[in-house]
Amino acid sequence: MIEAILFIIIGFVAMEVSGWAIHKYLMHGVFWQIHKTHHHPRKGAFEKNDAFSAIFGGIAIILMVMGYAALDYRFWLGMGISIYGMSYFFFHDVIIHRRVKWLKRPDGGFWRGFVRAHQAHHANNQKKGTEAYGLFFVPFKYFKEGKK
Ligand SMILES: [Zn+2]
Ligand SMILES: [Zn+2]
Repeated sequence: MIEAILFIIIGFVAMEVSGWAIHKYLMHGVFWQIHKTHHHPRKGAFEKNDAFSAIFGGIAIILMVMGYAALDYRFWLGMGISIYGMSYFFFHDVIIHRRVKWLKRPDGGFWRGFVRAHQAHHANNQKKGTEAYGLFFVPFKYFKEGKK
């Protein structure tokens, strides 16, 4: 059981760390043509950038299928990636961008710092020169500003 929890945490953290790097160096690099659809107004329910979520989801499914019989680390890594994906969808797409109008954006409190950080990322909708590429690992300054 401790192994399961450990690999779920590793999967989750690895997604945020690799996601930060992929966002900064690839999505705002060679994949900008795809990622920019997230930085510009959407024309419909989906954007080309959603392909990245589908790829990460596919990796999680493959890992879980491979580790299902033995219920080994692959299954739990896939589970960690899935939990990250659901958290990402819920926080990034539902709370921040309100692609579905389930909940209001938080005006204050703890979560406000994460919202501010992501809004700072979107403030400059250019390929270069933006900030805060992570969703959950963000510079502390956004929390201090949030106290105002
Ligand atoms: Zn971006
Ligand atoms: Zn966004």
